[in-house]
Amino acid sequence: MNTSSKVGLTIFDIDETLFHTTAKVQVFKDGKVNKILDNQQFNSYQLKKGESFDYGQFKSAKIFKETSTPIAKVIKRAKRIIHFATRKGSKVIIVTARQDMDDKKLFKEAFKAQGIDIGRVYVERAGNIGKKTASANKVVIFKKYLDTARYARIRLFDDDKNNLKAFLSLKREYPNVEFTGYQVFRSGNIKKLVA
Ligand SMILES: [Mg+2]
Repeated sequence: MNTSSKVGLTIFDIDETLFHTTAKVQVFKDGKVNKILDNQQFNSYQLKKGESFDYGQFKSAKIFKETSTPIAKVIKRAKRIIHFATRKGSKVIIVTARQDMDDKKLFKEAFKAQGIDIGRVYVERAGNIGKKTASANKVVIFKKYLDTARYARIRLFDDDKNNLKAFLSLKREYPNVEFTGYQVFRSGNIKKLVA
């Protein structure tokens, strides 16, 4: 396959990228809650010996739908990308640090309420993977897509520096793929980062 026949892959994070969210992740140790992390703390947290993440609030589609607030600039961009990219054979996916949601239908309603055609976007849940950090989990999914060799270009919209750094560092392993990171700030402003 030559490069010109290949397509692009666009990846969106959810928490603090498409939506401001409030769900917390608990860290368990010896059967007790040891720490409570907000989404940003969770992104950079490394599990220590004997610790595990509890995604209870993160799994709740009801909490997600009722408390998430859209980040307008990024939602607008996502809608445009989904519209054009999927028409030209390129793919758009969501890669979230969360695990499976307890109610997929309710979860998808939050996207539909913003006019996002979620039926055309596959949602990958990196929280099911079980590495020590959220970014290590996400990298497993990024590589799954890169290993198909279908994509000439890949881009990631994410608020978290660790995720973006891990993503852009994959350029070394996949030198023929064009990597672009888009860092999303609290205001919804987006900064382009090139590998
Ligand atoms: Mg995030």
